Amino acid sequence: MQIIDGKKVSDEILTGIAAEVERLKAETGRAPGLAVVLVGNDPASAVYVRNKKKACARAGFVSFEHHLPASASQEEVLDLVTRLNADPEVNGILVQLPLPKQIDEKKVIETISPAKDVDGFHPVTVGNLVTGNVLFSPCTPAGIIALLDYYKVPIEGQRAVIVGRSNIVGKPVAFLLLARHATVTLCHSRTRDLPGEIRSADILVAAIGKPEFVTGDMIKEGAVVIDVGINRVEGKLVGDVQFAEASKKASFITPVPGGVGPMTIAMLMQNTLKAFKINLEKGSKNY
Ligand code: NDP
Repeated sequence: MQIIDGKKVSDEILTGIAAEVERLKAETGRAPGLAVVLVGNDPASAVYVRNKKKACARAGFVSFEHHLPASASQEEVLDLVTRLNADPEVNGILVQLPLPKQIDEKKVIETISPAKDVDGFHPVTVGNLVTGNVLFSPCTPAGIIALLDYYKVPIEGQRAVIVGRSNIVGKPVAFLLLARHATVTLCHSRTRDLPGEIRSADILVAAIGKPEFVTGDMIKEGAVVIDVGINRVEGKLVGDVQFAEASKKASFITPVPGGVGPMTIAMLMQNTLKAFKINLEKGSKNY
């Protein structure tokens, strides 16, 4: 059994991005710009935004932080996104979710230019993902594929079972695995015989949000187990999989923390670098 070390893989990716940014900066005098919009004072969101800022500094990106009060109106948020869409220094826009309830998240996401949609949630981006014409993959699902590739886990022809069908994890990871020729089963709260489905998995992705929901007896011998869950239990972080039991059966398994989690930011940086490079190739500052 091998533990999939997401911290190490994400560190390597960020180091590679920083080197590429340095080279591009020397060539062009420009660096990728990531704008992060935070509305309100949700403590978890503040931590995520701080981590994104740190990653930007490490990768040599310019980061633009916009913090609006919890009372901000929908119009103010949309105006800000529209300004960022037009700003040539901004290559990627990330609006930290969740947003306060007076703001329509869907409308905000739809306002972000697909060319700057580095979080991968715009309907155009999602449509491209489904048709196999990926520009930006949503970050957590992309991080999962990057981990499988790093550890040379074969995907083609494998039976992949995903538990959880959210728009940010379950559904996009299903399409990414399908694009890589896995046979995909997407499970959710109405799935009949969930343990049976999980037991059939060569690759299991658990994205449920329930601490240690997947027990060792559900894991097939030799399965690759990707635990996306982040649950706080008595001040400790645990995943959706019972790690101690599952690791006795798995061939590869991600720990929580230190598995999928660190990959999300690395993929955000990768998407932003991609947006920057596309912009450079276009040879124009405005797009
Ligand atoms: P959601 O709450 O949006 O979705 C949970 C999914 O799990 C739903 O599709 C739901 O089914 C399914 N589910 C819930 N209970 C059961 C059950 N008893 N049996 C079968 N399926 C069930 O969660 P997210 O996708 O946003 O997140 C999932 C987990 O991943 C969370 O712990 C979250 O914190 C973590 N996460 C981690 C990230 C990272 O960077 N590592 C990034 C994003 C999320 P139904 O649709 O039928 O309700």
